[in-house]
Amino acid sequence: MPDCIFCKIATGEIPSYKIYEDDDFFAFLDIQPVNPGHALVIPKKHYENLLDIPQNILCEMMGVVQKLSKTITEVLNAPGFNIGINNKKIAGQSFFHLHVHIMPRFEGDGYKLWPGKVKSKEELQKIADKIKNSL
Ligand code: 5GP
Ligand code: ZN
Repeated sequence: MPDCIFCKIATGEIPSYKIYEDDDFFAFLDIQPVNPGHALVIPKKHYENLLDIPQNILCEMMGVVQKLSKTITEVLNAPGFNIGINNKKIAGQSFFHLHVHIMPRFEGDGYKLWPGKVKSKEELQKIADKIKNSL
């Protein structure tokens, strides 16, 4: 992808705070971290989002995410962390090269998860059936 910033970061054409690299994956610090140690893990090959990457490569990438999450949280003394992938614009994806956010969490950092909405049993069952029957 000629104009993809993350492709260029993966090749080193654009500099980054690299923390990890192997034949297929690259990880670097987010330039605007939500917390210290916020890192992005990307496949070197360009895939737009989670639906585009072959399953075997995704599984390998999650191995890298797991390894880095362990080290990042240990080094920064973070008691927890969130993993995130924003898929498509409506979900907040702003760079269209698949990337996994590793976001260390600290006491009092002020971040909250999305609030859930109460739904009726009927509505939940209807949605569950719809999904189940489409798999
Ligand atoms: P998204 O919203 O697509 O899930 O996340 C994109 C992330 O990439 C953002 O958190 C943003 O701060 C980060 N980002 C954008 N441009 C650059 C860059 O040039 N270098 C680095 N290291 N991070 C970037
Ligand atoms: Zn790319």
